[in-house]
Amino acid sequence: MLNIGVLIVGGGPAGTAMALALAARGLTAAVLERSLYESERFGETLPPGAKPLLHRLGIWEAFQNDAHLPSPGIISSWGSEQPYENDFIFNPYGHGWHLDRTQFDRTLAASAEQAGAMVIRSARAQSCLRTTDAGWVVRYEFEGKVREITATFLIDATGRSAWLARQQGASRIVLDHLVGVIGFGECSEDGDQRTILEATPDGWWYSARLPNGKVVAAFMTDADLLPRGHDNLRRFWGERLRDAALTTALWSNPDDVGELRVTFSGTVRLDRIGGPGWLAVGDAAVAFDPLSSQGILKAMDSGLHAAAAVADLLQGNRNALASYSEWLEAEFAAYTKNYFHYYGQVSRWPDRIFWRRRSAAG
Ligand SMILES: Cc1cc2nc3c(=O)[nH]c(=O)nc-3n(C[C@H](O)[C@H](O)[C@H](O)COP(=O)(O)OP(=O)(O)OC[C@H]3O[C@@H](n4cnc5c(N)ncnc54)[C@H](O)[C@@H]3O)c2cc1C
Repeated sequence: MLNIGVLIVGGGPAGTAMALALAARGLTAAVLERSLYESERFGETLPPGAKPLLHRLGIWEAFQNDAHLPSPGIISSWGSEQPYENDFIFNPYGHGWHLDRTQFDRTLAASAEQAGAMVIRSARAQSCLRTTDAGWVVRYEFEGKVREITATFLIDATGRSAWLARQQGASRIVLDHLVGVIGFGECSEDGDQRTILEATPDGWWYSARLPNGKVVAAFMTDADLLPRGHDNLRRFWGERLRDAALTTALWSNPDDVGELRVTFSGTVRLDRIGGPGWLAVGDAAVAFDPLSSQGILKAMDSGLHAAAAVADLLQGNRNALASYSEWLEAEFAAYTKNYFHYYGQVSRWPDRIFWRRRSAAG
């Protein structure tokens, strides 16, 4: 049976950034990732502030070699109908990016391997059991067979599902029921290069160009405001799209949209972010509303902080995990302040339930 020091379940930005940061501290980690990084992933906008973090992780060069699209800023129709432009021209780090998100996650995983971590792809964790010597046995499915790996410390980097934390009895605290209804189409030739945010009566649109000439658009609303049934959902989405002039202009043909996918996107946090022998990072610990455009950055940053905490812990510092927890708490407090600030700017539809819920919460 394979034996490893730190086992990270989940190979998204949080898990692979943590593996990279552990490797930089001379600690070997293994990552179990259920996918082969082959299918479409959501979350494409990376703000300019990611640049120093990519440098710290040692992946700036690899990142530049991938074909991500520069993003010169954000244009939004939010507090008023009048578009507001936030150009990155004055940002000290320069422009942001529209990512080829699958390639981004793939590059992070490959970089972690090059740094010395073991990444086991197509490996879905199934169970984890604490052993009498305070280690772990994790079972995972690989090539149709169940295998086992032992580890001293476990990391939950499984994203919003927080699979491992929930196995350990932690609960997810769901602060709202935001969902994203996501569609892909062809981008218009003169489509805006910036990320577009557009408030509408029943929610808001997020859209961006992608490096492959496509456009992604997500209608963000509350789960209970969506109609039931495939055809009704497509009609609802199309009607809301036609109400959003900035977003529609990005599409070469707004009627030509592929399959729509609905994904839970609300703010969620765990009631506890760790326990004996385990810790949660990234969205598994705290997942932000996509309005923040900070999810990937925060996931990688939490991987870095957690790596420092686990390294300190393994060297005998018993308070190491408490400082990680305090850092996460401060991040969440700053996020909620921004959340109420940004949602509070929209008072155009005081009688619409989506906005009423958010202003009441503030
Ligand atoms: C609609 C939407 C739009 C978004 N837009 C943006 C954006 O524009 N910019 C931004 O910065 N953020 C955005 N985000 C947020 C961002 O995508 C996340 O914050 C980020 O992906 C979190 O990274 P993570 O590594 O914590 O989790 P994830 O990226 O979810 O990675 C978790 C990994 O764990 C693996 N996994 C899960 N369970 C198991 C298991 N049992 N065994 C093995 N592997 C497992 C998964 O395959 C996955 O690779 C958006 C989110 C949503 C929902």
